[in-house]
Amino acid sequence: MASSPAPGAGVLAGRSAVVVGSGVTGLTAALRLAEAGSRVTVVSTTAFPMVSTTACAFWLPAWASGETAEMLGGAVERSVVEPSWHAYDTLRRHEGAAAGLRSVTNKEYLEAGQSDPPTWLQEILAPSSIRPTELECEGRSYSRVWTFDSVVVDMKVHLDWLQKRAIDAGVTFGERLLTSLDEVADGRTADVVVNCTGLGARSLVGDTDVRPVRGLLVPFEVDPERLASLKAVAINEYYLIPRLRDVVVGGLIREEADPDTVEATPSSEDEELLMSKLGTLSRMASAGRPTALRRTGPASVGLRPHRRGGYRLETERSWPVPVVHNYGHGGSGVTLAWGCADRVVELAAAEFVGSR
Ligand SMILES: Cc1cc2nc3c(=O)[nH]c(=O)nc-3n(C[C@H](O)[C@H](O)[C@H](O)COP(=O)(O)OP(=O)(O)OC[C@H]3O[C@@H](n4cnc5c(N)ncnc54)[C@H](O)[C@@H]3O)c2cc1C
Repeated sequence: MASSPAPGAGVLAGRSAVVVGSGVTGLTAALRLAEAGSRVTVVSTTAFPMVSTTACAFWLPAWASGETAEMLGGAVERSVVEPSWHAYDTLRRHEGAAAGLRSVTNKEYLEAGQSDPPTWLQEILAPSSIRPTELECEGRSYSRVWTFDSVVVDMKVHLDWLQKRAIDAGVTFGERLLTSLDEVADGRTADVVVNCTGLGARSLVGDTDVRPVRGLLVPFEVDPERLASLKAVAINEYYLIPRLRDVVVGGLIREEADPDTVEATPSSEDEELLMSKLGTLSRMASAGRPTALRRTGPASVGLRPHRRGGYRLETERSWPVPVVHNYGHGGSGVTLAWGCADRVVELAAAEFVGSR
């Protein structure tokens, strides 16, 4: 993929960086830092669950659909969203399925009284249209449908692709459960540390604003010729998304009662609730044509790393070396990954401008 290094990247040449976390946030940050000339090591652990493998993953800042402004704190910025979209758009054109990406037309039903998505987001996703519609669904009225083309990412393929790209760029990987950032931000291990631990930041840096928000996905197969013609549809927090090889029906946005329970255990009530939307969603995705969706596996549950007040993307200087935090992206971590990775390079580079 053609990529242009973020401004200031030159000063990172030869600097060492430790990225903690190997989800989509950590891998994209590691790759961008390596492209900027840093010697990068990614440290992560299978002892702490990673949500990136569970993600759906559809490109759309989640606050534009089912997730509420309070959950994301309104912190999603155009300066992060736009470069992220351009990175995925470039990837889909140059790598496509090899990187796990496909294009999909999405229909987002907007409830009566709900604001339109921001104009700048509609511009980024142009051509996009918002047309009047009349839809009653489970006691709620929908007055408009927002149609645009976006990207859906098969995360298993994409994470493998990212890791291979990172290895090719010289990134090395280590398995280690950190109990404190002291273990890597000690002034000897690296010149800069990047914290991409998602939900793990709650215990690693004691950020109690980070909270798990439960989501659920159920996989289906469909005849290949129908797969290509299906649209993605979303009504509030529930959606049906055609991916490269399968279809997922997903949703559910529920904050966990005990935020320190990181076990994503399934519940039959949640699954029944999700499956009750299947008929409506599949009719809409296929414009009313009967579509035989065959279930292929159990539901997967994931805990989105939400952060009250919005994701954290800033440098902390209270350690012997600068620590760039990049975590808490909730239901938008895939969507925002490349834009945040570019910002990580800028923040890390700013620490070394003028020094040798
Ligand atoms: C059902 C569902 C559907 C979703 N759909 C979408 C979607 O359509 N679009 C979208 O943009 N997003 C979606 N998301 C959200 C997305 O999955 C997350 O925002 C994103 O994956 C977060 O990535 P991350 O790398 O920050 O965290 P993670 O993937 O959780 O990675 C965290 C990493 O940190 C490591 N780690 C944590 N603590 C430590 C420690 N102490 N020591 C060492 N390593 C540590 C972990 O091992 C892991 O490698 C969805 C989520 C769910 C649950």
